[in-house]
Amino acid sequence: VVVVRHRMRSSGLWARAAAVVRELEERCATPIGKLRQIADAMTVEMHAGLASEGGSKLKMLLSYVDNLPTGDERGLFYALDLGGTNFRVLRVQLGGKEGRVAKQEYEEVSIPPHLMVGGSHELFDFIASALAQFIASESDDFHLPDGRQRELGFTFSFPVKQSSIASGALIKWTKGFAIDGTVGEDVVAELTRALERQGLDMRVSALVNDTIGTLAGGRYDDNDVVAAVILGTGTNAAYVERAHAIPKWHGLLPKSGEMVINMEWGNFRSSHLPLTDYDQDLDFESLNPGEQIYEKLISGMYLGEIVRRVLLRLAQETSLFGDTVPSKLEVPFILRTPHMSAMHHDTSPDLKVVGAKLKEVLGIPSTSLKTRKMVVGICDIVARRGARLAAAGIYGILKKLGRDSVSTEGGGSKQRTVIAMDGGLYEHYTIFRECLESTLREMLGEAASASIVIKLANDGSGIGAALLAASHSQYLEVEES
Ligand code: BGC
Ligand code: MG
Repeated sequence: VVVVRHRMRSSGLWARAAAVVRELEERCATPIGKLRQIADAMTVEMHAGLASEGGSKLKMLLSYVDNLPTGDERGLFYALDLGGTNFRVLRVQLGGKEGRVAKQEYEEVSIPPHLMVGGSHELFDFIASALAQFIASESDDFHLPDGRQRELGFTFSFPVKQSSIASGALIKWTKGFAIDGTVGEDVVAELTRALERQGLDMRVSALVNDTIGTLAGGRYDDNDVVAAVILGTGTNAAYVERAHAIPKWHGLLPKSGEMVINMEWGNFRSSHLPLTDYDQDLDFESLNPGEQIYEKLISGMYLGEIVRRVLLRLAQETSLFGDTVPSKLEVPFILRTPHMSAMHHDTSPDLKVVGAKLKEVLGIPSTSLKTRKMVVGICDIVARRGARLAAAGIYGILKKLGRDSVSTEGGGSKQRTVIAMDGGLYEHYTIFRECLESTLREMLGEAASASIVIKLANDGSGIGAALLAASHSQYLEVEES
């Protein structure tokens, strides 16, 4: 028989712990009025970022995608997706309107942590060699016409200042990547050199952010897709803008009259954002202090870490986990958002999942039910703040598009607006997702929200990149002329 004894915590310690949590709750509050101010600030910054280069914290990057997939895309195309915890390689055989995605295969490889903070060569060589192996496994189900070079869509989920559809310089790393010597470089040139070092004969036909890939993949499936949002390790959004609403764009106006914009909304910042001391410290100690503030409040890389910081303070100041501070609790990023989500969704009456996670992940041998309830409460505060802030951002985009209120078009039918969504946070963290959706409904009102659809485009960014590689293929020009 194992007897677990909890030293009775004095009521004074409990009162202090409760006060810390109450203060957190107050500081993280996102009443609807505040969310409206944040959405307004988002639209103001969108205008500013479109007006001039460097006009806003929102970079509002030109994607050089002025035509989204139509369904006519044909042929064998590869895609490579780099930017989160995993990277993936993919091939698709596109069969035009009838054949659609006739066949696809992919492989996912997790990126060894040391490569995320090493040298540029090492990272690109690793990617290129995984791609080489993948290409070697191509079966006869895939067809490349004789004499043709294989073509690739490169999804690179970091801010890039593009100079064309297939070139662009890295502005900065985000999400725990910090690699020397890549900022300012053309990432397509880097990749192409690594492909050559592998002896691969392959052309990068499109360089796209994951938001752009998701938007393209979403549009292929649904004509009403006008925006894409990523809620995963990082967060970002893209949408279709009218070319003449982009004053900083001095190039030729595209025939379509449209251009997809990569907002890089993770870098949004506003005095209205509810920042706590925990957030300030997290930012200060991060790889990119002062950057990606909105992302640090919302995305999967950070939510668990915010919770860890709150728990650490409770352990230090109120002995929440006993007389000594559990040493693992002092390790940055040890509590990941999937752990947090598992605890947050624990429905067992004695919160045994919470107890198990605290033990497994943080090395805290036993906790009282009261303590475990407090932990769930903290997860709830942090997750809801992130979800509500993300909803405010989406509302801001809908406002910018003029789709935030009921509008009628042709015959008085309601105009449908679809947002393609991707990312593990949205996909797997149910409370986060539901809170985001109900908050967006609350902001839009019943009538307007009836025509807004959020569609999970599960890893649509890879297919999207392949589709854009197809519509920018070197052979297409030959066929068209
Ligand atoms: C990057 C974006 C990316 C987003 C989601 C952010 O950290 O800056 O380019 O789209 O993460 O992957
Ligand atoms: Mg991704």
